[in-house]
Amino acid sequence: MLKENKHTSSNPFRIAVIGAGPAGIAAAVSAAAMGVEVDWFDKEQRPGGKLNDYHQLFPDREFADQILKDFSGKTEAIEIKKHFGTIVSSIEKVDGNYNLLSNKGIKGSYNAVIIAAGFDFFDARLKEEYGYGMYDHVITSPDLEKMLKTGQEKLKCNGSFPEAMAFVHCVGSRDQQIGINYCSRLCCITGIKQAIEIRELFPSCKVYNFYIDMRAFGSGYEELYRQAQEKYNVQFIRGRVSEASENQQKRIVLKAEDTLMSRPVKVTVDWLVLLVGMVPSCTMVDVENFSCTDQETGFYKQSNPLSGGGLSGQPGIFNAGACGGPMSIPEALASGRSAAMEVWQYLIKR
Ligand SMILES: Cc1cc2nc3c(=O)[nH]c(=O)nc-3n(C[C@H](O)[C@H](O)[C@H](O)COP(=O)(O)OP(=O)(O)OC[C@H]3O[C@@H](n4cnc5c(N)ncnc54)[C@H](O)[C@@H]3O)c2cc1C
Ligand code: SF4
Repeated sequence: MLKENKHTSSNPFRIAVIGAGPAGIAAAVSAAAMGVEVDWFDKEQRPGGKLNDYHQLFPDREFADQILKDFSGKTEAIEIKKHFGTIVSSIEKVDGNYNLLSNKGIKGSYNAVIIAAGFDFFDARLKEEYGYGMYDHVITSPDLEKMLKTGQEKLKCNGSFPEAMAFVHCVGSRDQQIGINYCSRLCCITGIKQAIEIRELFPSCKVYNFYIDMRAFGSGYEELYRQAQEKYNVQFIRGRVSEASENQQKRIVLKAEDTLMSRPVKVTVDWLVLLVGMVPSCTMVDVENFSCTDQETGFYKQSNPLSGGGLSGQPGIFNAGACGGPMSIPEALASGRSAAMEVWQYLIKR
């Protein structure tokens, strides 16, 4: 439902925020709180971005639904004009302001734009050796989030709850073969959190995490990693899985090398979970002509990564959240707030 913005007549500034995930929520609410008139776009019908499909969130294991409720309290409390169900396809500059082109026509003319269009999950079918899309019991970390959200029955294998499960780290990240060299930063901790959830749900289920390096960088992450080992007895094995195949019972047979012990490992599991990386969103707004994406990663890049200042080469367009690279929810929220502040500084200087 559209809400009329009370600031329209009194406020000289009008901006568009594209994306209503955590970064877009923080950006839209902060800009509106500063008195800026905000038009807010998302291709989905509801705000929340990826959180709508998550179950529990690291590091504190809060339920995503509870956080979404808190977010909607914030967005309902302030006047923002919502254009949900609108896919923004491009941005064009007209007389110093910006118009947005979408499936619902042209909207404009905005003094500034914040792009908070998020990321996509790496397409695990591109790593054929793991059998995603071929074997029923090979799933990705976002698939597992959805299954956990809808209840443990979905995790039954041949009519019984799982006896063994394995996670493979770095699927679609740090991989020269597919040209993705960066670390997605959050898949290690996602794998730790999901392993704990599985051990809690099914205490007799063995859980193996195959990792290359363990990167648990954020506040509370190292503690969760320690808990996974000491309290939940998750088996962390340093080594890359070379092959996954399906046996007659539809269980998955994994071959790997334990690089710490220098010995081959073979395990059979009910489910194989691929911890997929974060890649630039393919539905991301096309501002290609503005050459503001990083050539190597494809994520939007700041004109100055240290001091900010909006998108490279495009005054008046700012980015927030994971469309600028892999980041956590608290980081996306901070990035959204900071983009709103940068927009404000840009507007008052104009
Ligand atoms: C498997 C997995 C689990 C995770 N779990 C956690 C966790 O527990 N805790 C944590 O801190 N972080 C977690 N993260 C990271 C978290 O997903 C991101 O930090 C967060 O989603 C980033 O928010 P965002 O707003 O930048 O992007 P998104 O959440 O991707 O939101 C982007 C929004 O933009 C919209 N959009 C995109 N393109 C367009 C367009 N062209 N027009 C209109 N709208 C558009 C989308 O519909 C979407 O609503 C996880 C990541 C992964 C991969
Ligand atoms: S966070 Fe962990 S799993 Fe993800 S790419 Fe980095 S090292 Fe690999």
